[in-house]
Amino acid sequence: MSGPVTILGGGVMGLCAATELSARGVPVTIVDPAGDAPGPHGCSWWAGGMLAPECEGETAEEPVTRLGRAAADWWAAQGVTVHCNGSLVVTLDRDRGELARFARRTEGHRTLDQAALTALEPDLDRFDTALFFETEAHLTPRDALTRLRALLRDRGAVFVTTPPTMARRWSTAPALRRAVHWTTCAG
Ligand SMILES: Cc1cc2nc3c(=O)[nH]c(=O)nc-3n(C[C@H](O)[C@H](O)[C@H](O)COP(=O)(O)OP(=O)(O)OC[C@H]3O[C@@H](n4cnc5c(N)ncnc54)[C@H](O)[C@@H]3O)c2cc1C
Repeated sequence: MSGPVTILGGGVMGLCAATELSARGVPVTIVDPAGDAPGPHGCSWWAGGMLAPECEGETAEEPVTRLGRAAADWWAAQGVTVHCNGSLVVTLDRDRGELARFARRTEGHRTLDQAALTALEPDLDRFDTALFFETEAHLTPRDALTRLRALLRDRGAVFVTTPPTMARRWSTAPALRRAVHWTTCAG
């Protein structure tokens, strides 16, 4: 694809798509009725920032886990600080069966006893066992969004703020009429 591409929505989905396309030399325009800066209007602003493909695998389809395993490296390559401390899954005693079920449905974990758990996370000393997904990571979503936006601006990406009515009628928006390709990442 040589573009140009117009992307509807400047949340994490839109910014990631724009980043990948611009890295391949495709000119991108990001259209968002809420403005050109990441902010509380988008789900991405409120995310926890867990990069937890193994845990997602408990319910998600296989590509989510497979592709998600590359996420931490991808974010680091964009200049975002990624913390690779792993994820802990704990449960109250009465739900011990749920933890066993979670373990059966996921990969990439080991079981910790209380001593090992509290050595990793002293605040969890009321739990006597945990699943530890050692390869998982996390980042700060607001920093990550800000970083992608700055990177895209450096690459010449265009950010367009459309009135909400025009965003709804995307097919008639001037920016889209000029676009050869478009994709929807509007949450
Ligand atoms: C409390 C919480 C914690 C979470 N924790 C995690 C986590 O730890 N790890 C994880 O991976 N995920 C987590 N998630 C999920 C994650 O936040 C979402 O999957 C992700 O933010 C969705 O991104 P998005 O770009 O699709 O949507 P959004 O961030 O909502 O962006 C959509 C954008 O589209 C714009 N828009 C709307 N309508 C139009 C239109 N007609 N035309 C153009 N633009 C439009 C909006 O203004 C907005 O900017 C969490 C979510 C929440 C709420």
